[in-house]
Amino acid sequence: MQICRFLPSKRSNDTDKLGKLDFKAYIILLFRIMEYREIGKTGMVVSSLSFGASSLGGVFHELKEKEGILTVHAAIDSGINFIDVSPYYGFTKAEALLGKALKEIRRDKYFLSTKVGRFGVSGIKNWDYSAARAVKSVEESMQRLNIDFIDLINVHDMEFSDLNQVINETLPALIRLKEQGKVGHVGITGLPLVNFKYVIDRVPEGTVESVLSFCHYCLNDDALADNLDYFEQHGVGVINASPLSMGLLTRRGAPDWHPASKAIMSYSRKAVQYCEKKKYPIEQLAIKYSVSNPKIATTLVSTTSPLNIRENIRWVEALQNEPLLADVLEILKPIHRQTWDNS
Ligand code: NAD
Repeated sequence: MQICRFLPSKRSNDTDKLGKLDFKAYIILLFRIMEYREIGKTGMVVSSLSFGASSLGGVFHELKEKEGILTVHAAIDSGINFIDVSPYYGFTKAEALLGKALKEIRRDKYFLSTKVGRFGVSGIKNWDYSAARAVKSVEESMQRLNIDFIDLINVHDMEFSDLNQVINETLPALIRLKEQGKVGHVGITGLPLVNFKYVIDRVPEGTVESVLSFCHYCLNDDALADNLDYFEQHGVGVINASPLSMGLLTRRGAPDWHPASKAIMSYSRKAVQYCEKKKYPIEQLAIKYSVSNPKIATTLVSTTSPLNIRENIRWVEALQNEPLLADVLEILKPIHRQTWDNS
């Protein structure tokens, strides 16, 4: 599993034909191992599938604490080395539980990403993108996570902010934390893709080192693809989240709070049922699809099941079922790239 860490970092742009594969891609295919890619120019070389800890906050369903901890350990033991969380998930619950799990893991085994700007307390969401709150938030996150350094700090869901505040206040505060050695790198996150470009175009080159986009590179919506060249030109790394479209592309189905329209829900259900008929897990198809673009450094998936995370990794390492993929993309065509408002 770890062989890839020692392979040359240059990767192939064409994994279709064996004849065109470079050495690293050839080894990945031959041994069916996880691929590792650098997030932009950060030096963080991360597993193409990574662990999103939102589930640890109970955002999808109730969880048993022990299961959550075992899932984090299973992820790291199976080759995942990038974990994303936020104080917002479960209103600090996810960070606290992740912190318990991380106590038992060597710090050089993973890169940790968390966020500022989006919070919640006593069942009520709140947002604060001020510099003072960002600094305080980073200190609180480190305490909950039992770490003294955050590899990647992100501005969480910029669509809830005044983007000019992010540009003039939040990002400069995070850059100061980077200069103080408290955080390693700075990124931005959100649902509307247009906000990434707005911010990156208005800050000094190198301020934003990565973007975290979600639900825009999965079977029903691949709009992120149109922006990948722009990010590459600006040296910005790309993190993709929600390969299962926050539960839409699962046999269990989306949670009640899912903001997708009835049409998106209904066509997604059709795709799930079609895969069930073919006796092939839609989750496998979806995860493999999301990790297959070499311009995306990593794709974050969330689960609180050790079994699921191991299975997800195994699916990344297997070949894609191309005929089924073509059928499912066809089923989802009527809602292709349809999105929703973040909530
Ligand atoms: P996801 O697509 O990972 O879906 C999660 C759902 O899929 C859960 O219900 C989980 O139980 C289920 N699942 C996972 N593996 C499965 C399997 N093998 N079989 C069946 N079901 C399975 O969506 P997500 O949780 O929204 O995204 C993943 C991570 O990405 C989050 O935890 C978070 O870290 C990150 N994220 C960040 C932002 C942001 O920064 N704004 C937004 C969305 C997600």
